[in-house]
Amino acid sequence: MRNLASIQRIIQIEDIPEANNIVKAHVLGWQLVIKKGEFNIGDLCIYVEIDSILPDKEMFEFLRNKKFRIKTMKLRGQISQGICFPLSFLPNAMEVKEGDDVTEAMEIIKYEPPIPACLSSVMKGNFPSFIPKTDETRVQILQKLLNEHVGKPCYITEKLDGSSVTYYLKDEVFGVCSRNMDLLESSDNTYWKIARQLDIENKLRMLGKNLAIQGELVGEGIQGNKLKLKGQTVYFFNVFFIDEYRYAEYAEWLGMLAHLGLSSVPILNEAYKLENNMDAILKLSNRRSTIQQEAMAEGIVIRLIKEGEMVSFKAISNEFLLKYGE
Ligand code: AMP
Ligand code: MN
Repeated sequence: MRNLASIQRIIQIEDIPEANNIVKAHVLGWQLVIKKGEFNIGDLCIYVEIDSILPDKEMFEFLRNKKFRIKTMKLRGQISQGICFPLSFLPNAMEVKEGDDVTEAMEIIKYEPPIPACLSSVMKGNFPSFIPKTDETRVQILQKLLNEHVGKPCYITEKLDGSSVTYYLKDEVFGVCSRNMDLLESSDNTYWKIARQLDIENKLRMLGKNLAIQGELVGEGIQGNKLKLKGQTVYFFNVFFIDEYRYAEYAEWLGMLAHLGLSSVPILNEAYKLENNMDAILKLSNRRSTIQQEAMAEGIVIRLIKEGEMVSFKAISNEFLLKYGE
């Protein structure tokens, strides 16, 4: 689970042209508008990321009309993402240090979009423990990772705003999972419908090994179908070897999908040298979708092309977040 709230330092404060009462603060790779004088450079604060829902409590009353949700905003032409509270907002004078996760202590939960009818389903079991759940960390908290891997070859894919799906074959059992659940088969559930349409069970059986493929389900009825697609389909971003407990690397992943006759997420660049520059990466994420030229892409996912452990993260387009009120 992603840390939504953590103890962070205000690393920079800048004036905003023609604004007297507000200033721009930098926390991790994020920037946000705060009241002038509320914090000084070097102060520790509770930093709460976008996508957080704060608890319905007196001290967060000012967020009631936003349903207590933290979203991307633009104030005086400045993008503002997240919110800072003084450490006095911690419960019971809790003791903390820089970097500590305080998501639970602050009773913060992640905003999840409502589940559309076509994705509602009956649970067969928990998400299998032999496959990692899909997730991507936001580049804004990964300065250390950029320092460590700068210059290394990466590939970039388009991030699609749909719903995560995992198809697996394990000890002869074929399974279909949403982001958090193993699902019973039903004809009106889109995760399963697509599995049947694309003949995924037979394709996995043909390979004759324990394997999972993970992708993003997009189209009508899903997340507002921002790409305005007809029907629904899935684009895959992971192939995972269950017995070896490892992801296929770049060439292997593409080869495998081609062999299965399944689509990968759009590949935007397969020879990208990782830049140690958050702004440049965020700029790259502001783009049109390659699936639907008229639509804005949600963002990009950058992955290291190398063997061994997977290094992967997302950059979400700020234009996209502003446009869709996220
Ligand atoms: P988020 O949707 O912000 O929670 O970001 C993580 C999710 O993005 C993953 O769990 C995937 O379901 C989804 N996703 C969409 N496109 C991609 C992509 N190109 N590569 C990896 N994950 C992706
Ligand atoms: Mn998503």
